[in-house]
Amino acid sequence: MDVRLLEATDDPERVICTGARNDYSAPFVGDQSFAETMATIDGETIEDKKCTLIGRLLDHGHFGPFEHPQATFAIEGVSRSCMAQLTRHRHVSFDVQSMRYVAFDEVDPEDVREGAMVVTPPSATDPDWVGRNQRGGGVDEETVEQRETVFRESVTSSVESYQELLDLGMAPEDARFVLPIGTEVNIVMSMNARMLMHVADMRAAADSQWEIRQLTEQVLDLAAEWCPITFAYYDEHLKGRKNRLAP
Ligand SMILES: Cc1cc2nc3c(=O)[nH]c(=O)nc-3n(C[C@H](O)[C@H](O)[C@H](O)COP(=O)(O)OP(=O)(O)OC[C@H]3O[C@@H](n4cnc5c(N)ncnc54)[C@H](O)[C@@H]3O)c2cc1C
Repeated sequence: MDVRLLEATDDPERVICTGARNDYSAPFVGDQSFAETMATIDGETIEDKKCTLIGRLLDHGHFGPFEHPQATFAIEGVSRSCMAQLTRHRHVSFDVQSMRYVAFDEVDPEDVREGAMVVTPPSATDPDWVGRNQRGGGVDEETVEQRETVFRESVTSSVESYQELLDLGMAPEDARFVLPIGTEVNIVMSMNARMLMHVADMRAAADSQWEIRQLTEQVLDLAAEWCPITFAYYDEHLKGRKNRLAP
């Protein structure tokens, strides 16, 4: 899995603060400098003032201003299972790599056996991995070797069948029906900062699945560089609560 920040609102926290100050300002924020807009907020420097205001907004649940800045991420190589979870979020915009117009006819099934094209869940190779909804704890080496064999045989044979169907003239949109739900997909997604916190509330939580949790943690790392005050506050004070941003 690889996640990159493609595009994002410049100076997002200035936008957040300007939006919020507009709500309580008699003068028109469009006619003011940012320093004038922030004049009555506590803090020595403009950065201090941004910290004060953003912390207050998040603390009080005044989340609207966080809907102004928007970020676009490119995601490479998550499973279609993870995609199904991610695309449930209705305020996120997506472009998803097509299996109608992209055929995986060049992939060598032996590479699939080694981990190409289909995401390998940790429980297929790690005897100590315990999934949240799994009965019992870890397993012995022999059991995990059997799991890995079954998993790798199954995904390799699916890709072989897929390619055989393509060779028999079946359209990729139909041949794909035999591919596993772990088949990798690339996604471009855009969302605003409020939605990013909401997705993180749900998908960085301990009860979400390992793959979407890893994805969300990577998105959060990028968000922390893009919108640092907001996501530092989120990390310190809000992360781990149960879905409070959009009850
Ligand atoms: C651990 C976990 C397990 C899950 N298991 C399942 C499962 O087994 N089966 C399954 O189908 N789904 C499952 N889901 C998905 C879950 O039910 C949500 O559909 C998904 O997380 C989208 O989040 P959301 O409901 O907050 O909506 P989003 O689309 O992210 O919308 C954000 C917020 O906007 C508001 N909103 C959006 N649309 C509406 C609307 N139409 N009406 C009212 N308010 C709205 C809500 O406040 C919502 O929280 C699971 C999610 C998690 C995190």
